[in-house]
Amino acid sequence: MKIKNILSAENHKLLKDITSDTSIVICPADKGKAIVIEDRDNYLSKMQDQLDEGDYELDGRKEKTLLDKLHKKLTTQLKIMDIDLDDKKERYKYLAAAPVLANMYLLIKVHKKNFPGRAVVNQTDDPTYKICKILTDILNPLAIQSRSYIENSFELKKVLKSVTVAPDDIQASFDVRSLYPSIPIQKTLQITRERLYADDKLPDRTKWNPDDIIKLLEICLETHFKTLDGRIYTQTDGTPIGKSISGPLADIYMDWFENEYIYSDSNEFRDNIKIWKRSRDDIYILWKGGEEALDCFFWRVNYVDPRIQFTIERENNRVLPFLDMSLKRYPNKIETKIYRKETHTQKYIHWKSNHSKNCKLGILKGLIHRAHLLCDRKEDLLEEIQLLKDVFIANGYPKKLVEKTVNQSWKTELEKEMKRIAEEIRRTEQPVTHPDEEETNEYYDCLYAPYIQGFSENLQKDLKSLNVGVAFKTTKTLFCMVCKLRPKREVDDQKNVVYHIPCNSCMSCYIGETGNKFSARKYQHEYDIRTQKKKNGIGDHMRSKKHKINWTNRTFLAVEKDWKLRRIKESIFLNSLNPSTEIDASKLMNPEKGMEMAECWKEFNPIVRDLLKKATSKSTPKSPKKVQKRKLPRKIGK
Ligand SMILES: [Zn+2]
Repeated sequence: MKIKNILSAENHKLLKDITSDTSIVICPADKGKAIVIEDRDNYLSKMQDQLDEGDYELDGRKEKTLLDKLHKKLTTQLKIMDIDLDDKKERYKYLAAAPVLANMYLLIKVHKKNFPGRAVVNQTDDPTYKICKILTDILNPLAIQSRSYIENSFELKKVLKSVTVAPDDIQASFDVRSLYPSIPIQKTLQITRERLYADDKLPDRTKWNPDDIIKLLEICLETHFKTLDGRIYTQTDGTPIGKSISGPLADIYMDWFENEYIYSDSNEFRDNIKIWKRSRDDIYILWKGGEEALDCFFWRVNYVDPRIQFTIERENNRVLPFLDMSLKRYPNKIETKIYRKETHTQKYIHWKSNHSKNCKLGILKGLIHRAHLLCDRKEDLLEEIQLLKDVFIANGYPKKLVEKTVNQSWKTELEKEMKRIAEEIRRTEQPVTHPDEEETNEYYDCLYAPYIQGFSENLQKDLKSLNVGVAFKTTKTLFCMVCKLRPKREVDDQKNVVYHIPCNSCMSCYIGETGNKFSARKYQHEYDIRTQKKKNGIGDHMRSKKHKINWTNRTFLAVEKDWKLRRIKESIFLNSLNPSTEIDASKLMNPEKGMEMAECWKEFNPIVRDLLKKATSKSTPKSPKKVQKRKLPRKIGK
């Protein structure tokens, strides 16, 4: 089988031209799935606006100093908690292998005047990244317990059904202005500590005690980041947008705020509030008692905490947009339909995009299902489905297929609805569920693999017979190729790589892998060669044959974050060059061959060798050209 390149040579050139243009910045829009091309100077001045507005200070310290400081604090605390950081597995669980400083970038708000930016801190691979994720899982259950919590519009719809609406009720929505940066850290940590101590389910989630959790949170909230032009800032208060723990921490603080100022006796308007439901910073309110009282309440609630400021949106002609719904008030009920902002691009995965047919049709089916759930009126549903038809045809979907999918959906949606009602009845009659009765045709295992048109469909069929499911993972998208918002790194600072180093004087090479930065691994190699204390394949080859290595000829064969997968990839390359059990020194400098591979992989060796040859063609030595031709097989693969 041959894997085709999806992009034409012309498209590749276009991509290269766009990405090498330094006068522009390509970034995502805040909402609506659009991509924004912004003048670089404009982008930087919008970034400055954000920095001036929030609790940020320019930090004169160097990146390495800050990274070392955070690393030291973190390791000291983890050691106090009896975590054995000398154990490779433990270290991998809690610490980043080669941490980098977080970076701030902007999402452009295309739905607002002058297109301001929303600042986001990308925390991936910063020293506290892994700990933050663990803490998020520990804190999330506390956030969900909140009285006002709704996960999405479906949940709000359920709440609406349970409330009797009076003719003079009104709807409004409150929005907390820049919620995350407004959360006061000290107060929030104090509340979180109390909540953790009161949580008797905490031992089910972690064996860490509340005090240690708070100490880790304090370290994680020390946020330093770089901007696109390389300056370093420190955030002095508020939770950073983009850090995973900011979500639950904001919820925990807002829950406290609501208990203090909304649900409590001190709130003289408490009985006016029929519904107060919050999805992070968006609050839906159903209010009785008239406009004037609502105004007073709004002013009052903005007065209690200077950091937490609300904006209000009132219903217009009895209609209020909230989340992705439009809510219309009738004298005795509220009906919903789907709502889209005007700036929504109506772009979904294009029909020609490299995804399986099932996945693409799944998006349409999902949106049809959502329409059924959110549209109360038949005419709204029909209008929404007509819109979906037009939008998907405009996204390149064949007209006949769209119509067929829509036609079939009426039946499947009806079945789903009947199943849901039956399930409800079953649950009320017989509340205990029997786990073994539930879904019988579930897959036991699942393979995550990139999608390759024409090949993946067959693979899916074959694996289905073995009760193994296939989930396609998205690898490189056009978007991630053009959108580069991190300050540039040195090429040798690339980490998580499988690398290839050729000998300058013969055809032998070294293939290795590292989770660290390549530059650090290279330094280690050089040190081992100099000191001769440790066994080192490259050093042995250089000494025994009097050959030279030129480090600049190195090639990265693969970038892979998962260390197991990285070792497998390394072994695949090693085996392709040296299939026999004994190592042939004329082919490999490695003293060992890596992981043992199953026999069936041998079949792929010619293809892998071909890949290797292409990847390293620029760096292979020039002098022994004839040797090269003889040693590497010329007819490779199909
Ligand atoms: Zn050599």
